[in-house]
Amino acid sequence: MLRDVHAMEEQAITMLTSKSARLENYPELIAQIDKHLRETRDQAAMLERCLESTGGTSTVKDVGAKMVAFGQGLSGLFVDDEVVKGSLASYTFEQIEIASYNILISAAEHAGDQETKRICETILKQELAMTQWLDEHAAEMTRKFLEPNQQGLTAKR
Ligand code: MG
Ligand code: FE
Repeated sequence: MLRDVHAMEEQAITMLTSKSARLENYPELIAQIDKHLRETRDQAAMLERCLESTGGTSTVKDVGAKMVAFGQGLSGLFVDDEVVKGSLASYTFEQIEIASYNILISAAEHAGDQETKRICETILKQELAMTQWLDEHAAEMTRKFLEPNQQGLTAKR
């Protein structure tokens, strides 16, 4: 499970990296993605340390594998250049992360693994904050996407 979630974070790094390079007309979104990219790198490192120390609890391993398969099925959405579809995909991915960390926290609690629990709670807060940001900026991004471009710039859609 820990290993699966770590793989999911590695996948998130790849997606976030390719994304922030493509959304040049949305500077706020780029800043937020870059911030979450840094957080995601830290998350991967924290999970790595966790894996080294515990070897990873296998309590809910099959659940973890299903989640990762689901995430990979969604990754096609992330190759889209279009900001609205991209935001929807990001939002969906963050929701999967939130659900994953909630499951991991319960599993760690069940196993009496306080360190894993603490780390997952820290990461969960970051995933919730990213979701909240996307939620709060969805209307604004959609408006910007639909607006005719007044500066004569080519809209990156
Ligand atoms: Mg994450
Ligand atoms: Fe995330």
